[in-house]
Amino acid sequence: MTVLYLAHTECDNTLAKISLEALGAAKALAEGLGTDLQVGLIGADVAAAADSVAGCGAKFYGVADPMLADGIYAADLAAAEAIAKASGAEIVVAPATSRFSRALPGLAVRLDGRVDTHLSGLEAKDGKPVARRWFYRQRMEGTLTREERPWIMTLDSGCADAFAGAGSADVEAVAVDLASVRTKPAGMECVSEDEQTIRPDAQLLFVAGAGWTKKQADGAVHVDVAEATIKEFLGTTKSSLGSSKSLVDISGEGGAVISFLTHMHQVGQTGSSPRHPKGLATCCHGEEPHVVGWRFIKERRAVNTDAGCGWAQGKCDVLYVADAFEIMKKVNELLG
Ligand SMILES: Cc1cc2nc3c(=O)[nH]c(=O)nc-3n(C[C@H](O)[C@H](O)[C@H](O)COP(=O)(O)OP(=O)(O)OC[C@H]3O[C@@H](n4cnc5c(N)ncnc54)[C@H](O)[C@@H]3O)c2cc1C
Repeated sequence: MTVLYLAHTECDNTLAKISLEALGAAKALAEGLGTDLQVGLIGADVAAAADSVAGCGAKFYGVADPMLADGIYAADLAAAEAIAKASGAEIVVAPATSRFSRALPGLAVRLDGRVDTHLSGLEAKDGKPVARRWFYRQRMEGTLTREERPWIMTLDSGCADAFAGAGSADVEAVAVDLASVRTKPAGMECVSEDEQTIRPDAQLLFVAGAGWTKKQADGAVHVDVAEATIKEFLGTTKSSLGSSKSLVDISGEGGAVISFLTHMHQVGQTGSSPRHPKGLATCCHGEEPHVVGWRFIKERRAVNTDAGCGWAQGKCDVLYVADAFEIMKKVNELLG
């Protein structure tokens, strides 16, 4: 049984952190199973990416083509299929990037295999590969294995240690005819780092709650100040922005809103459960449906004017009973 690790390069021909994490998991799985690891890379140019992980000691396959620069489904699928067939691997491990989350279920169909996506861990048990996955909005973690082969698995970010070990890789080029792919990229529009406020790799999750849009001590709302303050903090620290449900729902209710917040930012039971080493909640009450989304945040702090808020009920490590407008203004001054 061979384990094939499959990854695509980024626009700058490197491998993303999530891809290095999936390689770490694939390598550990191959070692646990006592089997060989193979690496398959696709992208416009894969040489630099292969060298960056050459230390994993695997056999390398690669498909390099300009058509593979932007993540066209049909091209990604054709390249992945060619590598999987050349390798003949029974287990395929890949990162759950948006690009592979689209393409690899198709690979399972082409190879008459099976796919499991958004896995949270891999291990070898009694000589068999076993995968872990969260169910029911991350309330329960299940383990599963399959007899069908090839078994294709995509691993979520933050679930394994990133592989590190550069060297010089000898990549076997796999031929693929991409001429029949009819989709042509019209161009790539990347959001700027400042516009993209959901940053999974950030050290800090900054949560903005509905309090930022509520009447303050002077009897007035100051959404414009709130927006500028939050934006300045995010711009300087490159923290990831999260929000409470109440705040992101306000836009639908016609209230004064923080313009750069969307439902994608919502953290909690019906939102996301991001993984960051630290979290700072501001103007957010800390109700249970919100705080369950903090289960993977290691160090939690909150700023709230109410000493009896939800965070004070054992849900954070440090609660600053203070006005977040004043605190964040001061923090911005210190950072600036
Ligand atoms: C089925 C269900 C699912 C839900 N899912 C989610 C979910 O996924 N995510 C989620 O977030 N919520 C969820 N909720 C809603 C959740 O219960 C709360 O209603 C919501 O989190 C409250 O948001 P908030 O704390 O921002 O607002 P509020 O409850 O309005 O709290 C605002 C806070 O701001 C403080 N404040 C005001 N001004 C200042 C200031 N100047 N400085 C400091 N503090 C200040 C106030 O003291 C107050 O504590 C769900 C609810 C249900 C019923």
